[in-house]
Amino acid sequence: MANPTVENLVIIGSGPAGYTSAIYAGRANLKPVVFEGFQAGGLPGGQLMTTTEVENFPGFPQGITGPELMDQMKAQAERWGAELYTEDVISVDLSQRPFTVRSDEREIKTNSLIIATGATAKRLGLPSEHEFWSRGISACAICDGATPIFHGAELAVIGAGDSAAEESIYLTKYGSKVNLLVRSDTMRASKAMQDRVLSNPKIQVHWNTEAVDIFGDGHMTGVKIRNNQTNEESELQAKGLFYAIGHTPNTSLFTGQLELDEVGYIVTKHGTVETSVEGVFAAGDVQDHEFRQAITAAGTGCMAAMLAERWLSSTG
Ligand code: FAD
Repeated sequence: MANPTVENLVIIGSGPAGYTSAIYAGRANLKPVVFEGFQAGGLPGGQLMTTTEVENFPGFPQGITGPELMDQMKAQAERWGAELYTEDVISVDLSQRPFTVRSDEREIKTNSLIIATGATAKRLGLPSEHEFWSRGISACAICDGATPIFHGAELAVIGAGDSAAEESIYLTKYGSKVNLLVRSDTMRASKAMQDRVLSNPKIQVHWNTEAVDIFGDGHMTGVKIRNNQTNEESELQAKGLFYAIGHTPNTSLFTGQLELDEVGYIVTKHGTVETSVEGVFAAGDVQDHEFRQAITAAGTGCMAAMLAERWLSSTG
């Protein structure tokens, strides 16, 4: 590019979306600069650093651990010349090109930008939540529901929206029974989803019910619940507890600079990963409140890199 101090492409994020876009951009000779961030347990690599086995990423018939998968993606990005900084971006200026991206250590100007900052599953903050996270508690039924320990077991889901309904129905494939804990006396899910839940003989809805804590021995064995109308507490046997209480997209850096939806997800043009600012692309969970899978994040990361390359070629 004409100005040597301006990068072709900066990528923010080191989950499957960020590293995949770095691999594609590297192979397109764009020499991408990646701000990996280090939010998940102080490490780069995104959400999969917090899980054990990933059984549904193609190419690994025996499964692969989340950290191992992310290490491989990172190595592949480095092999193709991506420059990686394990730093959080603290601010961006998208009001003029080249765009500006800042961390505590550096400020970089770039002609194009891929945002792959992901989303964070909401947690309840229950006293024993940390102890049983990934030892029964999960924020993703599609990811973890098929785990052998859940087969034929009683399970529980917390939430009241479409995701909670969908995950409860999905889990009936594996569990002997699914207890759906709903905080109020109604669900927010669509009428059609509610009907499917209420007519499913394997699902029991516990209205006005909140989780108070989780118990177990190594792996969780149950949930302590409270009826918030009567204040009565009881114990529910469950080997799995699936949170379906929403995600928070990591987009606070972009508020007021890019179009976000009412929940904060980056809005992309239908069928693409283009954002409301030309030259800025968004990939992975940060723009996807529906699928939220490693493979879809990687797929949109690929799209973002290819569109960034086209954008850079078209602007000379
Ligand atoms: P993320 O993985 O969320 O990565 C976002 C990245 O952006 C992180 O590296 C973060 O540090 C970085 N970042 C954020 N803000 C900044 C900033 N300001 N500056 C710099 N960097 C920043 N999916 C599957 O397909 N199969 C599974 O088995 C599976 N299991 C899962 C288990 C768990 C416990 C969880 C939580 C999720 C699981 N998922 C699974 C979902 C999958 O992890 C996500 O869909 C996927 O990681 C999304 O990728 P991403 O690249 O969009 O974002």
